[in-house]
Amino acid sequence: MNMCDRCQDKVATIILTDDWQERLCGDCFNDMVSAEMGVMLEAMPEEIAVNDYSGTRRNFTVQRRLYPNGIFLEAVADIEYGYQFAVDGELECNQSELFQKLIDKVKRGVSKRFIKVGEFPNGQKYHSIIDDEVVGRIDHDEMSSSVPMIVIDGQPYTWEQLGEMVKSYEGFQIQMKFFDMTD
Ligand SMILES: [Zn+2]
Repeated sequence: MNMCDRCQDKVATIILTDDWQERLCGDCFNDMVSAEMGVMLEAMPEEIAVNDYSGTRRNFTVQRRLYPNGIFLEAVADIEYGYQFAVDGELECNQSELFQKLIDKVKRGVSKRFIKVGEFPNGQKYHSIIDDEVVGRIDHDEMSSSVPMIVIDGQPYTWEQLGEMVKSYEGFQIQMKFFDMTD
C-alpha cells in the first residue's frame, strides 16, 4: 500500500502522471484540483445511513472527487459487494443540492427489492425475481475471470444464480440496458 506523497498520512488512491509521478490520497487530490480550478469544496458528511426496503439500516461512506470537468459523489455501502450509488455535477453546481441528489438516489435505490427468497417443500431455498424486473450493478467476481458478479438488493449473485432465476422466464423476451453509475 502506498501512502500519499503530500500528506504522508492517508493511503494513495490516485496516481498522477505528468513529467513525474505523484501518488495522492482523495483529500489531497481534491485540494489540488480545488486550488487549480478555484472551486471551494463545502463540508459534507462522510457517512450516511438509510433504511432499506426491509427496514434494515445500511451504512454508506461518501466519497467526493473533483475533476476538471465536474464533481463526482459516490456512496459505497460498508460491506463487500454492497450497494453503490453515484451522482455528478458541474464544477459550479450547488454542492449541497448535489449531495441531496446523492441521498435521494441512495434512498430510492435501497427502497425497492428485486429478488426474494422462497423455499421448496423440502426446505431447499431458491431465489426468484419480483415483478419481472431486475436492476443491479455489474461487479468483478473474484472467483471467476469469465463471468461477472451481479449485485442486486445490495448483495452479490453469481452469474449462475442469476441464470437460475432467469430460467423461469423461458419463452419470454429480455431487454438488457447498461447505464453509467451516475445515470
Ligand atoms: Zn494526502
